Amino acid sequence: MGTNIDNKCKQCRRVGEKLFLKGERCLGPKCALVKRNTIPGAHGNKPRRRLSDYGNQLAEKQKAKRYYGVSEKQFRLTYEKASSKKGDAGKNFLRALEFRLDNVIFRLGFANSRSQARQLVNHGHFTVNDVKTDIPSFSVKEGQVIAVREKSKKSPYFRNLGEGLVQAERPSWLHFDTSTMVAKVLHEPKDEDLPQGFNVQMIIEYYSK
Ligand code: SF4
Repeated sequence: MGTNIDNKCKQCRRVGEKLFLKGERCLGPKCALVKRNTIPGAHGNKPRRRLSDYGNQLAEKQKAKRYYGVSEKQFRLTYEKASSKKGDAGKNFLRALEFRLDNVIFRLGFANSRSQARQLVNHGHFTVNDVKTDIPSFSVKEGQVIAVREKSKKSPYFRNLGEGLVQAERPSWLHFDTSTMVAKVLHEPKDEDLPQGFNVQMIIEYYSK
């Protein structure tokens, strides 16, 4: 993935909204946006500029891209695939992002941020339908089974997940058995399961120019 040179909290301050990139820290008073909601840089205390329509579309696209931690190339590819499918392009786009393996691992509660989930996938800790799968952008499908590899279950990381994993909130489209660490994709995310913090229509307008 292309490297984003901004640190995670700066990415939130740039868009002026929480993108939840740092796990637990994002929920508490140490969140940089709670402490200082200004644009990063020397002139950050100035009010945010009013943006043109194009500027708003670009900002919305950047926000969603940072939220999912996806490179521009992959984000655009995801849009192109989603817009070629039947139905609402915006919802198809968000569903495709939700179906990325790194996002699924995050949603299952194995990691407290998508970047940590991506690292776990990269390190080959998971199988999809019994096949080792270490590509974070891998797109899961309905009915597929995602599991922690037997070897990985013995590692301190997975052994120490404990209560955090049991109590993690999971979306209704994923079934998870905490005792075996095996999940199943039940169905596509419904409208109410999709993140509500984006104006996805603006993102579609940005890319469809
Ligand atoms: Fe964003 Fe989390 Fe940093 Fe807060 S703590 S600014 S939500 S990355």
